[in-house]
Amino acid sequence: MTAAAEERRPDRNAKRAPVEAAEAPGAAVRSVQRALEIMSLLTEDQPLVTIREIVDATGLAKTTVIRLVHTLEQNGLLWGTANGYMAGPGLWRWAHLAQRSWELPPETQRMMRELAARHRETANVYVVRDLYRVCVAQQEGPQTLRQVVHIGDELPLWGGAVSKVLLRDAPDSLLLRVARSSPYGEGHVRRLREWIDEAKALAAADARVRGQLAAAQGATDTTPSARGLIWPVNGPVTSPFGYRWGRLHAGIDIGAPYGTPIHAAAAGTVVLAAWTGGYGNYTCIDHGGGLATCYAHQSSYAVSAGAQVSQGQVIGYVGNTGHSFGPHLHFEVRINGNPVDPLGYL
Ligand SMILES: [Zn+2]
Repeated sequence: MTAAAEERRPDRNAKRAPVEAAEAPGAAVRSVQRALEIMSLLTEDQPLVTIREIVDATGLAKTTVIRLVHTLEQNGLLWGTANGYMAGPGLWRWAHLAQRSWELPPETQRMMRELAARHRETANVYVVRDLYRVCVAQQEGPQTLRQVVHIGDELPLWGGAVSKVLLRDAPDSLLLRVARSSPYGEGHVRRLREWIDEAKALAAADARVRGQLAAAQGATDTTPSARGLIWPVNGPVTSPFGYRWGRLHAGIDIGAPYGTPIHAAAAGTVVLAAWTGGYGNYTCIDHGGGLATCYAHQSSYAVSAGAQVSQGQVIGYVGNTGHSFGPHLHFEVRINGNPVDPLGYL
């Protein structure tokens, strides 16, 4: 919420908070900021905080601190004990909400535990937020003495190995802003691009290795899902469906080696088999009932428009055509033309 938005809504009929209403709106905003400042003194290392400590840390007058703490306690955000104030039960609903929003899937948690054990270092998960990366999950390594990064920390995007990966698909406008936010200024864009290329090359090599392993370790699963589709190629999902940088990634990327046969996810009619912009060699199959599947970046086609295909029939081969970095299959499921998450159908 911005201060301006807050100021547009002075609460003239406030009966419950006469002190607040009597103050100027700017003071109310300041009270909120101060309350948040007090709350943020509580950490895992310091779960209790005294009035004395709050006064020392914030530099506020003791009477102000007492008034704020009292309000927070009344709302359940703080809980007074003999030794000081701790996080109140009123936070539980938000803690629960935050946990639901940010909890990692069990596979990811397992992967982080393995990573931390193997490298004997703490593994962190970051998400991009404007010019920053925010640590949203952490798995301590066996030799960690003291955490340098904590969950919720915001770090600049212009530096650090993690940024190489996080900025992988960043638009030029964001790169420029990130560079401007760095101590090196706009010239830092070139360095960022080098990092991104490096990370992309590594990711492509990784996808190739995974694809080759997947191809060697088993044939395509030919058992249709509950929705009737089979996986078009066997391989790991290297990029999920969803919004990235404000743009929809309309399908999933499946890692598979160059030339791997692509199988029709279900029987149907080929309605498109042609070069389509960033998709490169692109095939769409209509399965009837509004359901269609599409296959992008193919090295070559095995069927042409108008053909009837059966489920599992080879319709083309994995490639690297169009906007693609390293061979993979970009696979889409469309309902009445609109892309949906293929994982809900496979
Ligand atoms: Zn894709």
